[in-house]
Amino acid sequence: MAGIIQDPYGRILEYVRISVTDRCNYRCRYCMPSEGVEWIPHEEIMSYENILFLCEVFVELGVKKIRFTGGEPFVRKGFVSFLKKVREKFPGLRIAVTTNGTMLEETADRLSGLRLESVNVSLDTLDPQKFHYITVTGDIEKVIRGVDALCAEKNVPVKINTVAMKHFNDDEIRSLVGFARERDILARFIEFMPLDRDVWSQDKYISARDILSLLPDAGSWEPCDPAGRSEVSGPSRYYRNSSTGQKVGIISAVSDHFCNLCNRLRVTSTGVVRPCLFGNFGVPVIDALREKNREAVKKGILKAVAAKPRRGLTGIPGENGLCEERHMSQIGG
Ligand code: SAM
Ligand code: SF4
Repeated sequence: MAGIIQDPYGRILEYVRISVTDRCNYRCRYCMPSEGVEWIPHEEIMSYENILFLCEVFVELGVKKIRFTGGEPFVRKGFVSFLKKVREKFPGLRIAVTTNGTMLEETADRLSGLRLESVNVSLDTLDPQKFHYITVTGDIEKVIRGVDALCAEKNVPVKINTVAMKHFNDDEIRSLVGFARERDILARFIEFMPLDRDVWSQDKYISARDILSLLPDAGSWEPCDPAGRSEVSGPSRYYRNSSTGQKVGIISAVSDHFCNLCNRLRVTSTGVVRPCLFGNFGVPVIDALREKNREAVKKGILKAVAAKPRRGLTGIPGENGLCEERHMSQIGG
């Protein structure tokens, strides 16, 4: 029988984000330093077998949704076959993926039978030059072809995720909403999070409230889930355009980060269970995974849970809100 993971503040944790690799074929400027980061040697990261075992333990503990992320998950060899195994092993699990979209064109048809809850594709701009600038190595045409290949599959819900940044894409919020509308997919805008002191800056940050005011047809957007978020969807607020019916999501991870409703844990590709994105604390479970020591893995998870802070990001961004020294690509965004 499935258990339940409850933290010291009574929050039930049923959503886990697992990073399958720290590696990435992009160098997004807000995610890692432009010189890149040193990749972790392959021997130090969890094997797919380790991750399957970890999923098994999480499911036993009552986890209902697992999102696979990175780095870029599709750059890890065998990722789609791994997803297939996860689906076969856990027919009732809600499975989702976050990707930069570079490899969707060639994998979309293989994703369609996996009953994924969502594939979130990061897309910060529609301008090819700006796209290349922000990703350092990226080609937007390839990503758009990937999004379209996925949309053609019909049974894979696609979302686009945009990190909103002043002087970069604040003038493109409208066109990104239009891009999503044309494809009947969900656009979500994310506040730029202060994870890395060298990369984040206050003058690039746009609050959720300002993002809302930048949507097209300002004034026509109504909150469409009065509670602010659905049960296992995290800090997103959804808005519905009263004339077109289109929905968008705004993720106010900084200005209003809903820590009181946080239901998630993260696991890095090296098998460290992290209770909170904004903090360095984590419990390594990789040895226990390698030994298939179920009790030790559970113990590690529960140790991380016990350390989950009531509130992660404290203070005002740009003042004392910066608290992380690792890059998002290494934590698993
Ligand atoms: N490579 C995949 C991708 O780009 O979607 C998955 C990993 S990436 C770290 C996951 C998400 O984190 C992306 O949507 C990315 O835009 C977001 N992200 C990275 N750094 C961020 C930051 N400082 N603030 C807000 N979101 C960030
Ligand atoms: Fe790679 Fe995703 Fe980070 Fe961009 S946001 S560098 S695609 S991990």
